[in-house]
Amino acid sequence: METVWKIFSVANGGGLYAPPVFSLCMSVFVFLFGSCIGSFLNVCIWRIPRGESIVSPPSRCPKCGHWITALENIPIVSWLALRGKCSSCKEPISPRYIIIETLTGVLFLLLFWNSFFGFQLFRPGYFVLLPLLICCAVNDCELGIIPNEYTYFGMGAGILCALLVPYGAWFSFLYSFFCVLTAGGVAALFAMLGKKLFKREALGWGDVKFLAMTGAFLGLPGVIFTVLAGSLAGLAAHPLVCRLKKRKSRTLRFGPYLAFGALLWMFAGDRLLRMYLELCAAFAQK
Ligand SMILES: [Zn+2]
Repeated sequence: METVWKIFSVANGGGLYAPPVFSLCMSVFVFLFGSCIGSFLNVCIWRIPRGESIVSPPSRCPKCGHWITALENIPIVSWLALRGKCSSCKEPISPRYIIIETLTGVLFLLLFWNSFFGFQLFRPGYFVLLPLLICCAVNDCELGIIPNEYTYFGMGAGILCALLVPYGAWFSFLYSFFCVLTAGGVAALFAMLGKKLFKREALGWGDVKFLAMTGAFLGLPGVIFTVLAGSLAGLAAHPLVCRLKKRKSRTLRFGPYLAFGALLWMFAGDRLLRMYLELCAAFAQK
């Protein structure tokens, strides 16, 4: 096991080497922590767009009003133990709960491994942005809105997280602030011009604030990548989604695709950018 671990670690750019038991414990902890965050995201996803408090009252079954006990609130496990049904009225509980808990756990684990194995630098801000992306994507997908609560919080948190870099903290703080203004400004300009030119909404204000938020965490290259990757994903997937939902509406809910673009940048942005630059250099030499 130890040799396998060593080979894996060296093969992947010689990231941090740690004893397997420690790495395993850390991985389990990160996954569990992520799924707890996912459980909290479920509360946010339901309550924030409806203008309800995320602190109180405690969760209850929307059908019979049964208060959810602590035992029924354990991420992933409770849903499985209850077989996706309310313990009181036996009405089905949406599989969305377990899906978001598992997804958040898995993405937290991948993010942790990404820096642990030396694929990318450790960036604490990513662990703040990730849950926000999930909330924005799900709310935009379901209700067609990206609540300001996520994006305003994200802009502030992103600028503050920039202070956590090991050196040049003030520079990165100012840069992050600059990126919020630039990304938000350009997106706002695009939204206004689009509305004038096409006589309909080209880019929603939720998306504009979403891009300003991504700017705070990912910087300008990250925002540009997010828009490009998100647009490509949207172009590819939108016709399929329309057909699946039998929806004739031409309006594209951009949030989920933008979130996908931002996720791609977080996990592989460095490598994709390096590949692209190497490709440019190779062409330039010819
Ligand atoms: Zn119930």
